[in-house]
Amino acid sequence: DDERLSRELLRMDGDSYGRYKSLRGDWDFGDFTLTVQRVQADPFAPPSRILVALPDAGIPKDAWADPVRRRATADFLGRRAGRLLRRSLLRIDTGGQEVLERSSCRVTEGGGLELRIGIDLPGRGRRIDGRAAEREFCDTLPGVVDDLYWEAVDRDAARAFADSVADTVALRSALAERGLVAFVADGAVLPRRSGISDEPMAEGAVPFSSPDSLRVSVDLPHRGTVTGMGVPEGVVLIVGGGFHGKSTLLHALERGVYDHVPGDGRELVVTRADAVKIRAEEGRRVERVDVGSFVRNLPTGADTADFRTDNASGSTSQAANICEALEAGSRTLLVDEDSTATNLMIRDERMQALVHGDREPLVPFVDLVRPLYRDHGVSTVLVMGGSGDYFDVADHVVMMDAYHPHDVGERARELARERTDAVFTAPRARLVDPRSVDPSDARGRSRIKRRDMDVLVFGDDDVDVRSVEQFVDPGQIIGAGLALRALDLRDRTLAEALDALEAELAEHGVTRLGADFGGDYALPRRQEVAALLNRLRSLRVLGQRW
Ligand code: ADP
Ligand code: MG
Repeated sequence: DDERLSRELLRMDGDSYGRYKSLRGDWDFGDFTLTVQRVQADPFAPPSRILVALPDAGIPKDAWADPVRRRATADFLGRRAGRLLRRSLLRIDTGGQEVLERSSCRVTEGGGLELRIGIDLPGRGRRIDGRAAEREFCDTLPGVVDDLYWEAVDRDAARAFADSVADTVALRSALAERGLVAFVADGAVLPRRSGISDEPMAEGAVPFSSPDSLRVSVDLPHRGTVTGMGVPEGVVLIVGGGFHGKSTLLHALERGVYDHVPGDGRELVVTRADAVKIRAEEGRRVERVDVGSFVRNLPTGADTADFRTDNASGSTSQAANICEALEAGSRTLLVDEDSTATNLMIRDERMQALVHGDREPLVPFVDLVRPLYRDHGVSTVLVMGGSGDYFDVADHVVMMDAYHPHDVGERARELARERTDAVFTAPRARLVDPRSVDPSDARGRSRIKRRDMDVLVFGDDDVDVRSVEQFVDPGQIIGAGLALRALDLRDRTLAEALDALEAELAEHGVTRLGADFGGDYALPRRQEVAALLNRLRSLRVLGQRW
């Protein structure tokens, strides 16, 4: 078939661009099959899509039998493919600093490989450039496939890559039994190159060093024993002067739910997999969320246990974000003063003296953060440089001083005051109307598209995801859209629907989401799938359940 394709492409040279459509279907190249899945209508449309299936790439069982190593090996090979294809018209999605399960490169049972690739089919104006196309399909592509066979790969590097990811996963799964919500290894490099680059800071980065009192060591399968700062469950406060590295530490914890590539500096910075960054998000929509623990009597008289608004304030949006995170199953909250609503975080005595009783509907987080942990097992890591109120409720206080953490818990306890906790009641579960979560357009076709890292188009809805900070990869945003489409919300709570989807994806892999989808995507966490659903303007909740 490869010769047939070659002849076909050369014959098409100079024909009108639309004739590329005739390439659709399978082409047998002997050791691999090329499937032309989608053909662009013109040279300016989104790239055409091909699938390359190589049933036996010689990948040994130890690299694919375990799901973690399989994901890592696929990521390694995808990055290799990306480098090999750099000067071609073929494009493969290789991701950034995280090692995510993605659709573009999959290692299959038995040691095979599947590549999902985009190609800008070459044209001269609106005519087919058959010779250029022939070069890509019949020369470049087979050459790259040859270089992805296990025997052609730097196997030591591939193993080291998978070992590193396996260690990260082992470290993260060691957190719970040790009563930790996060771990930051000594020597880790947390700061990034710039606000727009996720690569490690190149020069002058101060490596992480744990304070004695919080230092723990963990034995890892490949690296052996590592030491670092264990962030305990409970309420942990990160304080320090401005520009001393507080937010940088918290950002690293936010990203610690994902695995990082070797050399990133955060390979051994891990956070519980369910951790959610909480922030204020003025203007977002909220659909029947039980924010009753945070918001009591509103001036409008609205029922805050069944709260709905098309335009949330800073404080109510943050309260909704917390309650929704709990509903999606999170028991670890990450909060940075830089992105919170002050009136939801603190209330000092003088303000209480002036605005009291029924005139203040908000119960500040400082009064709820302890009951959240004590009664519901929800831990909080909070960056707060601007107010000492949280000394009263913190189990641990870490001060960042010129990028070095110090345990200042004792001193903070001396400064603490008595405080009466409020009561936190677990938010009610919601039953979502499945018809309100529908990506079909007017013609009944599923419409899931992304605009940068800002917007996911889901059917008629433009969902603003800029504040969903743990979307770290464009592919995850699309993946979350596809997951939302796959979510079976009938006759069950949102949490139950997320459980079922998560189990299905663990069993069948990410490509379960997009058999019909012509683009790249990566596996989202359930927390981000829920975050997307919660931001749909079309979302309708049918009822709540205790
Ligand atoms: P804060 O939140 O305490 O005000 P940031 O975390 O925003 O401080 O950090 C301030 C600056 O210091 C940032 O430009 C960041 O990149 C840099 N920085 C943070 N941690 C380190 C470090 N370990 N080594 C070098 N520079 C750092
Ligand atoms: Mg900061």
